[in-house]
Amino acid sequence: MIAEKGSISINTENIFPIIKKFLYSDNEIFLRELVSNAVDATQKIKKLSAMSKFEGELGDLKIKVSVDKENKTITISDKGLGMTAEEVKKYINQIAFSGAKDFLEKYKDQNDTNQIIGQFGLGFYSAYMVASVVEIQTKSFQDEPAVKWVCDGSTSFEISEIAKADRGTDIILHIAEDSEEFLEEHRILQILEKYGKFLPVEIEFNEKIINNPNPIWVKSPSELKDEDYLAFYKELYPFSEDPLFWIHLNVDYPFNLTGVLYFPKIKKDFQLNREKIQLYSRQVFITDDVKDIVPEFMQLLHGVIDSPDIPLNVSRSYLQADGNVKKINSHITKKVGDKLAELFTNDRKGYEEKWESIGLFVKYGIISDEKFFERAKDFTLLKNVENAYFTMEEYKEKIAANQVDKDGNSVVLYATDTEKQDAYIKGAQKRSFDVIVLNDVLDSHFINTFESKQEKVTFKRVDADTFDKLIDKGLNAESVLSEDEKKKVEELFKPIAGNNVVQIEALPAEDIPVSIVMPEFMRRWQDMNKLSGQAAMFGDMPQTFNLIINGNHALISKMLKMKGQDRRENFAKQLYDLALLSQGLLSGTKLTSFIERTVEEMAA
Ligand code: ADP
Ligand code: MG
Repeated sequence: MIAEKGSISINTENIFPIIKKFLYSDNEIFLRELVSNAVDATQKIKKLSAMSKFEGELGDLKIKVSVDKENKTITISDKGLGMTAEEVKKYINQIAFSGAKDFLEKYKDQNDTNQIIGQFGLGFYSAYMVASVVEIQTKSFQDEPAVKWVCDGSTSFEISEIAKADRGTDIILHIAEDSEEFLEEHRILQILEKYGKFLPVEIEFNEKIINNPNPIWVKSPSELKDEDYLAFYKELYPFSEDPLFWIHLNVDYPFNLTGVLYFPKIKKDFQLNREKIQLYSRQVFITDDVKDIVPEFMQLLHGVIDSPDIPLNVSRSYLQADGNVKKINSHITKKVGDKLAELFTNDRKGYEEKWESIGLFVKYGIISDEKFFERAKDFTLLKNVENAYFTMEEYKEKIAANQVDKDGNSVVLYATDTEKQDAYIKGAQKRSFDVIVLNDVLDSHFINTFESKQEKVTFKRVDADTFDKLIDKGLNAESVLSEDEKKKVEELFKPIAGNNVVQIEALPAEDIPVSIVMPEFMRRWQDMNKLSGQAAMFGDMPQTFNLIINGNHALISKMLKMKGQDRRENFAKQLYDLALLSQGLLSGTKLTSFIERTVEEMAA
């Protein structure tokens, strides 16, 4: 076969139906595009004037949007630089069509092409998603006649001279039958407020200005006070509590980015709210789905990011490939790290006071982001049961004398519920051990991460079995029970304890008589399951534990001296149930019979 080369030509006749089809799913953006063009035209005339290339009066530069329900039109009017007949032909007819060709060639076999409007000079044509006929009436700032361009969405257009005295452009959309929802004023207002709330030129609709042309993120931090940041926060989220602090982003190299990120009060049972950070491009709202621009844990933050370097209208697959997006992502992470480090160093007390919120965020970051862990480990705090805060390094030092296992690991004892684990906390404190509180939803993941990354640290829940091994370190008292008596005690408890291990220890006499400990891994497994709300992951993992009998407790000696096997058995049962009760493991019929037994015992 003879080799042949050639170029594929695309018939422009097909373009309109394709634009319409591809862009259809998000057709409200026509207004964003047309208003953006009006803003561009206005900014251009201002610039020309500043450079003395335009000597006339700028006049009132407000952009006006109006709806004429009767004639079924929407009009967008600006007092920008306007276009001459030549320019209309060039910019509207030619450029856009070649842009459309590009668009088709590049994306002909992708189906989410609605994401890329605006980058291909197609913005203007989005008007055809809602209009059957589009009319442009425009007068250039240059001394040339005004022109009218009309096109019904086919490839033929009409251009003629008209009498239009004022400089600027009116875009008149004759709304198609299937798009009449856009003739409702509330719908137009809603779209304008969504995309245009912070556009840099005043936008008037129904005689009201709908936007704030000077949002704080375009100002310099030096001209802003705390009140300004708080007021802007209220503007963004009228129903939210005040934020804890904020970060003003301002980068111009190697990419452009401005913005303000707010650190909200985070609730313990937080839900990841993916819609609290808004992405803008040159003050045009793009999306509130920023998942590729900021790491997942950063989506706990609120605020605004504005970057002209993010491809307009964000689609996931499209963004990930973009180098800028990755740079922006790591820049933001770094900035947030800087801010936390600064707060920690400059105002430790304030930082501690905010730790409840900051902590959830930092822990989330530590769990999910390697780089952030490296950064944040130095300002991650542990709070002990006495409400004192320590960094990991500080804490290791604090427990160095007392809580180190035989392998040289610092053993961090933690309580997940200071009420329920009170007996164990007291027990630990009696031995001069320190106990920290870890009661956040993320804590079981958090300690796993910390252990896997930090050498020589291990976390043990205060009622875990290993806690006892720590106690073994020369803390055991001499046993008051003989071997014979120990055996008797064991025989009493064995049938009661079932599958669980019975362990008789010579603990200090003032310790509780019977207690229950669980292997640390089992604890964590339970805590993790509680977090994920699914108990089924490992099937029905049996809940076994070790029953620790304090052989030195007076009640154990008392039990041995009791007359009658029945009484001794009852007494052992009672002690066993008490231990269960203290762990919240006694319920149902077992709890009922415990209460009955107690009542009988007290009556006797
Ligand atoms: P883009 O904005 O990406 O350049 P558009 O399709 O939105 O693509 O617009 C094409 C061109 O038409 C613009 O670049 C501009 O030169 C011209 N244009 C569109 N709207 C206006 C307007 N309101 N005033 C002046 N020029 C306009
Ligand atoms: Mg445009």
